[in-house]
Amino acid sequence: MKTTRRRPYAEQRPQDLGGGVWSVPVPIPGNPLGYTLVYAVDSPKGPLLVDAGWNHPDAWQALTQGLSTLGLDVSAVSGVVVTHFHPDHAGLAGQVRQESGAWIAMHEADAALVRLMHNLADSDHRDFQADMLKRAGAEESDVQVVTAARPEPPALPDRELRDGDLVDLPGRKLRAVHTPGHTPGHICLHLEDADRLFTGDHVLPDITPHVGIYPYDRNDVDPLGDFLDSLDRVGELGTLDALPAHEWIFPDVAARAAEIRHHHEDKLQGLGALMAERAEPLTIWETAAMMTWNRPWDDLSPMLRGMAAGEAAAHLRTLEARGVIRRVSGGDVTRFQALES
Ligand SMILES: [Zn+2]
Ligand SMILES: [Zn+2]
Repeated sequence: MKTTRRRPYAEQRPQDLGGGVWSVPVPIPGNPLGYTLVYAVDSPKGPLLVDAGWNHPDAWQALTQGLSTLGLDVSAVSGVVVTHFHPDHAGLAGQVRQESGAWIAMHEADAALVRLMHNLADSDHRDFQADMLKRAGAEESDVQVVTAARPEPPALPDRELRDGDLVDLPGRKLRAVHTPGHTPGHICLHLEDADRLFTGDHVLPDITPHVGIYPYDRNDVDPLGDFLDSLDRVGELGTLDALPAHEWIFPDVAARAAEIRHHHEDKLQGLGALMAERAEPLTIWETAAMMTWNRPWDDLSPMLRGMAAGEAAAHLRTLEARGVIRRVSGGDVTRFQALES
């Protein structure tokens, strides 16, 4: 199987991967990830797309021209399966549907979130975010910047998928594998007749996906715990080639899934040790500021700090679920403290 190491978008090319599967790199303007790999799977009804790319005129042009270089026409697309609702995956799904009459499918849990986004007024969205940030102990200046931005919600899906469902793809077997963590409704898609797994953002060859909890202080879910279980789940599918949505195609998804699990277990252990050294309970913001990110905390933009806090909160929640730390209630701000051993 061909392996394309990470190169800038300009050096990426649409590719015929064999077995009726093609990939088209679609740029994400202004984002260091560079591009989304949109896959097309051959079917007698017209190609099916796995993800669609970012909603931007340059991305649309790259998608349609890329398909046409491969001898495919966007107007013939029969369906778009979205691995999760994020804009670099679902963004162009609406425009593909408009152009081709294709259906859009996603997991029911992400579909519920997309409906919520469509129904939430701008002012409610702002209030919701501001409350969440304040309870996490965020600086007022960060609250101002983060609540000012609101992304466009993706197109509403026509079909909803559940774990184990076969996607409507005549003559082939493409099965949805629910892999929650990065989003509640993230799915990988197992092309069972070709031992390939479309991994979306769940398993990437070099980077690890963002796993956060929103609102930060929820205690009724455990996204990182779900993500770790989802890594095991993918590992149990056997030796499959991975077709991820970013970076490059790689063999043996199980080995990489185990590696990512290890990375998070290390991070959990480190955070648990850090909390045990502290006598005073910490806010989510204080915890995030102490953790290691790819840049020093003070150099992160408010948006990135908000995401780092989401990730810190997810790790805290998992440690709480495992009985390593506890949350300290009372007051307007949520804090966490190590359990006495
Ligand atoms: Zn994503
Ligand atoms: Zn992505």
